[in-house]
Amino acid sequence: MVKITAYGGANQIGGNKILLEDRDTKLFLDFGEPFGMKDKYFVEWLMPRDSRTGLKDYFHFDLMPKTEGLYGEKWLRDTDLRYSKPDFDGILVSHMHFDHAMHLKYADDAIPVHLGAAANSIRESWETTGGKSISFGEHDFREFRTGSKLKIGTVEVEPIHVDHSVPGAYGFLIHTSHGCIVYSGDLRLHGPRSDMTKEFVRRAAAEKPIAFICEGTRVTDDDPREDLSEKQVEERARRLVAGHSRLAIVSFYPKDVDRMRSFRDVAKATGRKFVVSTKVAHLLESLKGDRRIAVPDPMTDPSMLVYVRQGMSKPLAHDRHYIDLLGRHDHVVDWKHVSKNQDRMIFHTDFSQLTELIDIQPKQGSLFIRSKSEPFEEDDLQEPVLMNWIAYFKLDFHQIHASGHANMEEIFWMVKEIAPKTVIPVHTEHPQLFSRCWQRVNCPVPRKCMII
Ligand SMILES: [Zn+2]
Repeated sequence: MVKITAYGGANQIGGNKILLEDRDTKLFLDFGEPFGMKDKYFVEWLMPRDSRTGLKDYFHFDLMPKTEGLYGEKWLRDTDLRYSKPDFDGILVSHMHFDHAMHLKYADDAIPVHLGAAANSIRESWETTGGKSISFGEHDFREFRTGSKLKIGTVEVEPIHVDHSVPGAYGFLIHTSHGCIVYSGDLRLHGPRSDMTKEFVRRAAAEKPIAFICEGTRVTDDDPREDLSEKQVEERARRLVAGHSRLAIVSFYPKDVDRMRSFRDVAKATGRKFVVSTKVAHLLESLKGDRRIAVPDPMTDPSMLVYVRQGMSKPLAHDRHYIDLLGRHDHVVDWKHVSKNQDRMIFHTDFSQLTELIDIQPKQGSLFIRSKSEPFEEDDLQEPVLMNWIAYFKLDFHQIHASGHANMEEIFWMVKEIAPKTVIPVHTEHPQLFSRCWQRVNCPVPRKCMII
């Protein structure tokens, strides 16, 4: 028999940490942090003291399972869980999103981590540009691509690329002693590479799997958000920017390379320059060697510029690189350039960089496009602050976004196509809804082992 235990991702969106056990092999599918995991006891500057006391605070509030042979020794020093040699054969990372990879640093460094080649580039760039707070540990990071066959203990794994809102995203065919178990990771069918997701579905169906561990982020009867494709985002943004004569500001997650490409295209079509931060430039540059991703390069693309923030007293190495180029390279600019040429710029920002607007001084009525998901929770702390900035600068606010996740209809289509013996819904708040599309649904209970 094969055992599956969801240590994260059961009845919740994100935080996938799914243990698969077959004979003597123990393998984790993802190792992420659930959204809002710390929210009950921690907020803003009140955070677990992990750099000083390891996992003590997490264990105290039962936020992480006390599992022997899983965590690194330094994280256990102040806890009552004794350290023992690693008892797990590997961690498979479907993609480099926070809710799938953020807890890797706590896992014992001796446990190898398997991830896509592009995902590994993103990991390195994230660590380089994120400062001290970002680390994924010192694991042996083993890269794979579609076509790779990974032998992990007694199990063989085939990663198959899928389309998601970050490059290097994969689903897995896991060949166990009892048959194939399929894991979706996060995926969508309305993105620019829906062909990859379709290939994954085709390959998974051919295996006649005994189980399909399937994401269901948007499996709900109550999804008020608009259902746009990436193409529609670009078209809508293009129309909006073309009809505007002031600065266009756009906010979305820096790792969404498809969205980067969309806004580069909007800039090109409207005769503007798409201006990105040094952090984004570093990420795009680190991915440009991968010919399969078609990443825009802000240092050579005629429709792009790199923005250097002013007054950084302790710039990180990647910032120093661009600071040195300021004034010497025509793709590197600062606030003065953006401020002076507002009607010819699309300025990318994320929430933590809104202060740049104080330097740039956008003219009243400038465009602000939020191109990411609207907040899940009404008590989102950032939302009222963002709205205060919009009101202060009298910006013209618009929401235009395409989700990284397939909608309910598409997920149900995938389940029917793959036709597993059992479907195991994860990364969803409504696992029971899967019974509408499939007879055998096994809803995981957090930390409780299920036998397949
Ligand atoms: Zn994701």
